[in-house]
Amino acid sequence: MALSPRLMRRLRLPRTWITLGVLAPIGMLIVSALMLLDLRRDAWDKADQTSRNLLQVIERDIARNIEIIDLTLQAVVDNLKAPGVAEATPQMRQLILFDRASTARDLGVMLVLNENGDSIIDAAGWPARQLNNADRDYFQAHKANPHLGLHISKPLFSRLLGSRIVVLSRRINKPDGSFGGIVLGSLRLSYFRRLFDQIGLGQDGAINIYLHDGTRLMRHPYNEADIGVNIFGTSNFNRFLQEKNGAFVATSVRDKVERHYAFSQIEDRSLLLNVALSTREIEAAWRAKALIISLVVAILCGLTIFLSLLYGRDLRRRAAMQAELARLSRTDALTGLVNRRRFEQVFERAWRSAQRTGKPLALLVVDADHFKRCNDRYGHAVGDEVLKGLARCLSASVHRPDDLVARIGGEEFVVVLPDTNADGALRIASKIHDAVTTLAVPSAGIAAGSITVSVGFAVGPTADETAWSDLYQRADAALYAAKEAGRNCTRSSASMGDGRLRICAS
Ligand code: GH3
Ligand code: MG
Ligand code: MG
Repeated sequence: MALSPRLMRRLRLPRTWITLGVLAPIGMLIVSALMLLDLRRDAWDKADQTSRNLLQVIERDIARNIEIIDLTLQAVVDNLKAPGVAEATPQMRQLILFDRASTARDLGVMLVLNENGDSIIDAAGWPARQLNNADRDYFQAHKANPHLGLHISKPLFSRLLGSRIVVLSRRINKPDGSFGGIVLGSLRLSYFRRLFDQIGLGQDGAINIYLHDGTRLMRHPYNEADIGVNIFGTSNFNRFLQEKNGAFVATSVRDKVERHYAFSQIEDRSLLLNVALSTREIEAAWRAKALIISLVVAILCGLTIFLSLLYGRDLRRRAAMQAELARLSRTDALTGLVNRRRFEQVFERAWRSAQRTGKPLALLVVDADHFKRCNDRYGHAVGDEVLKGLARCLSASVHRPDDLVARIGGEEFVVVLPDTNADGALRIASKIHDAVTTLAVPSAGIAAGSITVSVGFAVGPTADETAWSDLYQRADAALYAAKEAGRNCTRSSASMGDGRLRICAS
């Protein structure tokens, strides 16, 4: 696909490359920032999904296990009311009441306590292990409240097992509705610990299960000191309580680590479960990626800026070089005046303009007299100095902005005078003669007055002229006439033949 000339011109401008060098990195930065934000959102979505899934799996397991124990407890309560059970032998009663108890995991003991708190039926066998739990909170709670339903106790040390347990219990009513004791099942806390330990949540991840009153039953990773701690009233716990389930980011009261908490309530709100992932770990993989991407983008941006600036500087240098070459191509190296090529361009333009406007255009051709002799006598280097001096004299003799002095040959100069008639041209010629009179090269022993020039001029364009060269030839012929007339004088093309116009500097 060919690029349009306008676009090509634009591409050659240093400014275009500097602008591109700034805009491209800005674009790159915006795109990579958007990409990084997107990756970060992905990391968070993944973490959120993972913790919610884990929460669901754990929640189901706990709910199922508690349900199994509770079904057994309910069955005991119901079966105690069944006709014949009260009259059955203690061994028979034990068998009838606890036939389903074995399916629950980590079940400790299952007992029926009478209204005084004494164990009377034991799932483990007959006779029941002797024990009185009337002092336990759960016993007192059932005694005080007939409508408690399933009660889950705080973490306790089992009197029979010697290990940490929570006690699940239900009240037994006598036929008249008064308190007849309780049936209890103890669940080893090791159940929660084993369940939680199967799950890897990183270094700072955590799983917590609380009672509704804020008492922590278990925490993963396990630490003995965490069991039984009450966090009721903390802002995190308030949110667990208020919203049934959900997720939020907050700082842990326990260890000040910021975590993403996915939480839900189990067993008719009596237990609160949360799966917490550390925000630092959620973002760890993203951070590593972000660091690499940022580094690469920074290097690319830096490189783009550097290369654009380099290319822009190169273009600027090239433009400056081209300008210098163009200047040199129209300048005479010795005198600094414009050269013949440039003179021809300017003079042609001036001639056409004069032809169009009808204004007179004067051209002076100035030639150093007997310059060969000067060279022969003083040497070429001195001759060069004289030529430079002549250039200064000529330049000093014209003042209008459009006037032009050029060196068109060895010791031959021209002066272009737009909008100038013969009188004007004569005045300038006279000034030139006067200026040259003062020219001296003391170091070479050339005194003022020893250098002279001859001037031929013509004013045009005339009706019969068809090109600028016609006017030039007339001026050149006038110069020849001046030389013929003895040099150091001015001749006009108009006066040629009658010899009337002769102006001599000396
Ligand atoms: P006339 O009065 O008839 O013009 O005689 P002239 O000697 O000036 O003319 P001629 O054309 O015979 O000689 C011109 C001399 O100018 C020849 C050359 O030695 C000298 N010349 C030409 N270009 C340069 C230059 O760049 N430097 C120096 N020093 N001399 C130059
Ligand atoms: Mg000469
Ligand atoms: Mg000459």
